[in-house]
Amino acid sequence: MTTDLVTRVRDAGIIGAGGAGFPSHIKSGSKAEMVIANGAECEPLAQADQQLMVKHADTVIAGLALLMDSVGASKGIVALKKKYKTAIDSLSMAISGKENIELFLLRDFYPAGDEFVLVHEVTGRVITEGNLPLSEGVVVQNVGTLFNISEAERGIPVTHRHISVLGEVKHPATFRVPVGTAFGDVIAMAGGAKVEEYAMIAGGPMMGRVTFDVSGTVNKTLGMLLVLPKNHPLITLKTRPLQRNIRLIKSACTQCSYCTELCPRYLLGHSLQPHKIMRSLDYGNVVAPDVVTSAAACSGCGLCETYACVQGLSPRQVNMEIRAELAKRGYRHEPQKVKVKARQEMEHRKVPSERLLSRLGLEKYKEIAPLKETPYSVRQVKIGLRQHIGAPAVPVVEEGDVIRQGDLIADIPDGYMGAKYHASVSGRVQRIGGGEIVIEAA
Ligand code: SF4
Ligand code: SF4
Repeated sequence: MTTDLVTRVRDAGIIGAGGAGFPSHIKSGSKAEMVIANGAECEPLAQADQQLMVKHADTVIAGLALLMDSVGASKGIVALKKKYKTAIDSLSMAISGKENIELFLLRDFYPAGDEFVLVHEVTGRVITEGNLPLSEGVVVQNVGTLFNISEAERGIPVTHRHISVLGEVKHPATFRVPVGTAFGDVIAMAGGAKVEEYAMIAGGPMMGRVTFDVSGTVNKTLGMLLVLPKNHPLITLKTRPLQRNIRLIKSACTQCSYCTELCPRYLLGHSLQPHKIMRSLDYGNVVAPDVVTSAAACSGCGLCETYACVQGLSPRQVNMEIRAELAKRGYRHEPQKVKVKARQEMEHRKVPSERLLSRLGLEKYKEIAPLKETPYSVRQVKIGLRQHIGAPAVPVVEEGDVIRQGDLIADIPDGYMGAKYHASVSGRVQRIGGGEIVIEAA
């Protein structure tokens, strides 16, 4: 039974729908006492998961039950925010009679959906630095991934993605679109942009990536596309070049340590203290090497840059750069063995989502993006071969091949961790190259 689900999840090309794209068959083959369905969806304005839980609660719960069975978990928890009233109603009906599955209601704070924070909220346990939820006997899986697991059990691979299109668009909505749909197409589905000069944040205002390229595409992990005026302060902050940020830190960091005091990882008892890393950038300042390597524990949540820092600096950007450099040099952040406790002040330093939204200057975009699952026809999709963590997938089709939606188009290379990809539309393979397969829709 276990092997079956692992194989089906692998064959369906499922990767974590809410995060970095970790191949889900690996988690499905582990052993855990508890599975947490992550429905916290903490990025400000995000709502694709919420809509999914309202409309497809039964499918999400079926996926959770399958995963619990696969990992041998005796308990399943669906963690979502107290404010998601309609989703709570739908899920309560879906779990009725299932004694080993419960709902866990979270306060509305950021980053409630961070795996480390979520496991602490639900179980009171702290995952130590460099470890995974599994070290505490827990598997965390996003509700969108659980939806896909349930579909995989019926032999349906991942070809589509629920995505909310918000901000400066005429009709904000949550669509179910083929993987590989261009950003320009999803903006058109939402009635088009309301401003002439705009930028997009793919993936949420806190951790998402700014892009100006409408030919960028929806991948399996993307739940939100936020359209903002090009000169919105958040776009300016997120596109500030690293060297300029470092110059500003050298001249303007007051060492107030607010970035540390509000850092969710520091509050969990981890060693990360961003203000000390910022101090290390100062001229001639020599710090202990472990201050710098502690950047590996940074989640990139962005609270330091958007909420904590009174000087408008970005410790997050510096930490991400250090992380990337450490990874390039083969540094591995060793999992810490000594258990730690969350710091006492954590409870009082949870940042309310409403205040964060106001600080980000995004209050005016707070509106419902209703779920629209009507199929939209797209002319073309571009399917990236590395939407996941691991080795890029290897094409198994050739240019000119005629394929149907759901056909396997790229496979996991032998001996590597990876994910499979399937045609998200029926049509003809137009081009293979540049790390993607382009399909012209029939
Ligand atoms: S981005 Fe900033 S606040 Fe978030 S974990 Fe990293 S250092 Fe802490
Ligand atoms: S919050 Fe800003 S000014 Fe204060 S220590 Fe951190 S980076 Fe420096």
